[in-house]
Amino acid sequence: MTSFNHSQNKKGKVYVLDTSAIIGRFLSSDSDNITTNGVIREIKDFNSRIFTQNALEDGKLEVREPAQWALNEVQRMMGESGDVLRLSEVDIEVLALAVTFKESKELKIVTDDYSMQNLSKILKIPYQGVLTRGIKEVYRWIRVCQGCKKKYPHHYDGEDCEICGSKLIKRRIKGS
Ligand SMILES: [Zn+2]
Repeated sequence: MTSFNHSQNKKGKVYVLDTSAIIGRFLSSDSDNITTNGVIREIKDFNSRIFTQNALEDGKLEVREPAQWALNEVQRMMGESGDVLRLSEVDIEVLALAVTFKESKELKIVTDDYSMQNLSKILKIPYQGVLTRGIKEVYRWIRVCQGCKKKYPHHYDGEDCEICGSKLIKRRIKGS
């Protein structure tokens, strides 16, 4: 297990930052802030790049890579939640980075991305928004028949209801 080099960080608290956190200028001064190479590459705007560069040089931000087992776990959970299409490769990296350290560190994901927050909740990783407040409930996607209202799992293959033949529509439901 990788150790963090900030010895003054007694509680071992870690913030895992995604792109929205960096663009929102989130940087905790009394905890470690970590992110992935993918996030760094994704930041295009000039001022955000300067901010990132300074944070890296000052040792306030560290780049880490997620473990392969953690990437696998996130991908598996994504399939189950139905958020699979709304998360980028970089998002998955950030979530997997948090999964990598969640047993050994007291950590929090910082993100304003709705799907990221949803997945964080499913992965049982605490999170907070940068600019907005975190969502309260977990949502899942299902498909519902417009005719007879029969519910289908989000990964159901057909376009039409097998009972009445009406079109299926995608719907977000609450629940864990
Ligand atoms: Zn139907």
